[in-house]
Amino acid sequence: MKVLKFGGTSVGSPERMKKLLDIIDPAERQIVVLSAVSGTTNNLVEIAQAYLSGDKKKAATLIAILKDKYQVFIKELFAKPEYLEQGKEVIDYHFNLLTGLANDLFTSIEEKVILAQGELLSTTLYYVYLKEIGVPSVLLPALDFMKIDEDNEPIVDYLTHHIKPLLDKHSNNNLFITQGYICRNSFGEIDNLRRGGSDYTASLIGAGIRSEEVQIWTDIDGMHNNDPRIVKGTKPVARLSFDEAAELAYFGAKILHPQSVFPAQKYKIPVRLLNTMDPKAEGTLITNTSEKDQIKSIAAKDGITAIKIQSSRMLLAHGFLRRVFEVFERYKTSIDMITTSEVAVSLTIDDTTYLTEIVEELNRLGSVEIDQNQTIICVVGDFGAEKHGYAARVLEAVKHIPIRMISYGGSDHNMSLLVQTTDKVEILRSLHSRLF
Ligand code: ADP
Ligand code: ASP
Ligand code: MG
Repeated sequence: MKVLKFGGTSVGSPERMKKLLDIIDPAERQIVVLSAVSGTTNNLVEIAQAYLSGDKKKAATLIAILKDKYQVFIKELFAKPEYLEQGKEVIDYHFNLLTGLANDLFTSIEEKVILAQGELLSTTLYYVYLKEIGVPSVLLPALDFMKIDEDNEPIVDYLTHHIKPLLDKHSNNNLFITQGYICRNSFGEIDNLRRGGSDYTASLIGAGIRSEEVQIWTDIDGMHNNDPRIVKGTKPVARLSFDEAAELAYFGAKILHPQSVFPAQKYKIPVRLLNTMDPKAEGTLITNTSEKDQIKSIAAKDGITAIKIQSSRMLLAHGFLRRVFEVFERYKTSIDMITTSEVAVSLTIDDTTYLTEIVEELNRLGSVEIDQNQTIICVVGDFGAEKHGYAARVLEAVKHIPIRMISYGGSDHNMSLLVQTTDKVEILRSLHSRLF
């Protein structure tokens, strides 16, 4: 059984929604994961922010604008009055819920309820549309099987255990529709898998049902060899290993949610990145293997903070790095890059929630320097220890740009450079023209 995920632009208009059946074969047993209609989650974020700041009037205005958009949407989606009526009921239900929140105490719990409405709307409308055109389908509520634990980690066993009976119950059905992004947390409240999380949903379901393949359908023909939003002339990469794809996703290639590769990797489920606008394009196939001896792609991750801890006693001082890492562990802050010398260690973080506390504790270990507005440039390829020349090619291409940190050899397929964010565009373009 395959899992097909369609992103926001792929369901971004009634016309696009109708065209999904050019790709989905209703005769094949499969699970289709849908994102919210493009723009909706951003609108829901704004509505939640208005409520959080106590501006109920602004929230009401934003809700009315979004509801208008959906009213236009369903007029184009449905042809028959009885289905248009059903579409109206769906919209009324979700928008009444948004409006009703004005009467409650507004906390992060209500915020997450708001954010969930986008995927609930898109899947229910699509389900009603399929009914109108006579294609049988089953709407699977993601909130019944998608769960995260106290550390926000999805629980694949829970998913398997709860989705299987739903699939078995409808053994005569082929087409299952469900929501990306949304889940329940350890308190049973509605929560989500972070922005872009529908990719993660697809991979998790793929893992949970041991799917034969996960397909991520989006608005571009696969993982490109550089960020197409910044660099002209980028090209799709035909094959990537799970490790390579994971590095690219984590270090900024927006086409994939940062964590979405891991569940598929764990159960060796091939992932294809495909283009809804050009379904025949080859796209990118992500599996256990990939082409050797190549630089594959470049990605960039902004919002990075570099921390340097200098200690005159680090020389021969065992236990120093442990004490440094323990500080980050206490504040549940993960480290992205790290470089060390005999007298100092530099590392980077992207979550600065506890920066003040972390610096205060690190100050006890040595002198601390902070650099904000940094960007990690990640070059991904096959650079095993026996290979030579790759690092030189990368550094030659960026010799006119100041480099704050370099990390190479951490894995066989990543070389990372830390630069000022203001140099990002230049470094991406320069690497592109010299490496590809
Ligand atoms: P969806 O809504 O389908 O999830 P996203 O907007 O999340 O789509 O991801 C697709 C977008 O990712 C592309 O339109 C492209 O602009 C961006 N992107 C960033 N880096 C890359 C890359 N290396 N390869 C392909 N797309 C990329
Ligand atoms: N709708 C969510 C978002 O915009 C999840 C997704 O599209 O993957 O982040
Ligand atoms: Mg996405």
